[in-house]
Amino acid sequence: MELIGPDHPQYDELRRPALPQYGHIRPSVIALCGSTEDVVEALAYARSAGLAVAPRGGGHCFAGRSSTTGVQLDLSGLSAISVADGVATIGAGARLAEVYRGLHEHGVTLPAGCGPTVGIAGLTLGGGLGLLGRRYGLTCDRLVGATVVLADGRVVGCSEEQEPDLFWALRGAGGGQFGVVTSLVFAAVPSPDATRFDLTWPRTRAAEVIAGWQAWAPDAPDDITASLAVTAHQARVFGATLAPLDLGPLRQLDGDLRVRSGLAWPALKRSYSEDDPADDRIIYSKSEFFSSPLTRDTVTQLLDSGCDLNFTPMGGAYNRVPVDATAFAHRTERFLLEHAAPDHDAVRRSWSIAHPHASGHTYPNFPDPDLADWQSSYHGGNFARLVAIKHKYDPELVFTFPQALGGVR
Ligand SMILES: Cc1cc2nc3c(=O)[nH]c(=O)nc-3n(C[C@H](O)[C@H](O)[C@H](O)COP(=O)(O)OP(=O)(O)OC[C@H]3O[C@@H](n4cnc5c(N)ncnc54)[C@H](O)[C@@H]3O)c2cc1C
Repeated sequence: MELIGPDHPQYDELRRPALPQYGHIRPSVIALCGSTEDVVEALAYARSAGLAVAPRGGGHCFAGRSSTTGVQLDLSGLSAISVADGVATIGAGARLAEVYRGLHEHGVTLPAGCGPTVGIAGLTLGGGLGLLGRRYGLTCDRLVGATVVLADGRVVGCSEEQEPDLFWALRGAGGGQFGVVTSLVFAAVPSPDATRFDLTWPRTRAAEVIAGWQAWAPDAPDDITASLAVTAHQARVFGATLAPLDLGPLRQLDGDLRVRSGLAWPALKRSYSEDDPADDRIIYSKSEFFSSPLTRDTVTQLLDSGCDLNFTPMGGAYNRVPVDATAFAHRTERFLLEHAAPDHDAVRRSWSIAHPHASGHTYPNFPDPDLADWQSSYHGGNFARLVAIKHKYDPELVFTFPQALGGVR
C-alpha cells in the first residue's frame, strides 16, 4: 500500500473524480491499494489517524461520495479480470471498458452500463442498468460472490451460502455502506453480436416521440433496449437489439434511422463512447423512477424546462426478480427519467414538474442529496433489513456519509 500526500506529483490526477463539481475536495491522503491486504492496511491507517474513509472505484458518484477530506481509498490497482467455466472474477478497481474487453476474450460479458470509465464496483453495488439489462437483469443480479474488507479489518467472502445477509445487501445498496469490496464474482452471459440503432427527430417532434416511446419501450421484447434522449436540438431513440430490428410504433413517426448491424459487444459499447466524448463542464442531474406514463400536459411543461431529458426503459428481466430477493427495491418500474443541465435550479424545477407523477423511488446509483425521504426512496420496503445488516457489519458506522444507512454524521 502506498500513501500519496498533497505534495506527490500524482496527487491531483488521482484525487480528481469524474464529476467536476466535486473536484475541489482534497483528501488528506490517497491510499493506493493493489491487494486485499493493502485495503486492510489502509483501513487500519485511517482508524489510527482518526480519518474518514471513502472507497473509490471509477469515481463517478453523482453525490461525490468517493471523494473525502480523509483517506481516499484508491482501488485502481485491483483490476485483474479472469474467467473460468463462465464465471468471471473481477477486481473492484476495473472500469467498464476493460471489463467488456477482458470478458469478450473469453466469449462472455455482463449486463452493465455504458460509460467506459465507470467502475464495475460502484455500478454493481448500486444495481447496474445497461443495454443487456432487459434481457439479463441488473449487473448485481449476475453477482454470485464478493470479497469484502470490513471496517475492523476482517476479510470475508460472501455469497448465497456465506454471509448471505451481507451478500443480499451488496446487491443494490452496497456502495460505501458495509465494507470495501475488493473482488466481485459474476455468472457471465454470452457476449453477443448486436445491432445498434439511432432514430432521430427535430426537437419540435419531441412530445409525440415521448408519447410513442412511453407506450412502447418499457413493454418491448427483452432483446431490445431503446433509450430516449431529448436535448435542445433533437429527440433521439437509441440502443441495441439482439433480434431483427423492430422499433414498434416509433417507425410510424418517420424519424431519421441509422443502423449498424453485426457489432461485437465491446465494439457496440465503444461506438457509444466514441460518439459521446467526455465533457468537463459541470452538469447537474436529478432523476426518479416512474411506474406509469407521463401525461401530455406534464410532457409539455417538461419540454419548456430547458433541461435535457433522458428516459431509460425498465421492465423485462429487471422486473422479474422479486422486490425482496436483493436489496435493489425497484422491480415494478416502467422507466427512469433523468433531468440534466448546467443550471442546478433549472434541474430542480424540471424534477418538480415530474415528481408528483413519479413512483417515489430513486435509483441508488443516481443518488440525490436533495431527497428528504431518501430511506424509502432508495430502498423502499428493504430499508429496515438494510439498517439491521449495517449495524451487524459496520457497528461503529465507519462507512457513513449523509444518506448512509447508519444515520447522518
Ligand atoms: C458518465 C456516467 C455514466 C454512467 N452510466 C451508467 C450506466 O450506463 N448505467 C448505470 O446503471 N449507471 C450509470 N452511471 C451511474 C453509476 O452507476 C454510478 O455513478 C456508480 O456509483 C459509479 O461507480 P464508480 O465505481 O465509477 O464510482 P465511485 O464514485 O468510485 O463509487 C460510487 C460509490 O460506491 C462506493 N464504492 C466504490 N467502490 C467500492 C468498493 N470497492 N467497495 C465499496 N464501496 C465502493 C464509493 O465509495 C461511492 O459511494 C453513470 C454515471 C456517470 C457519471
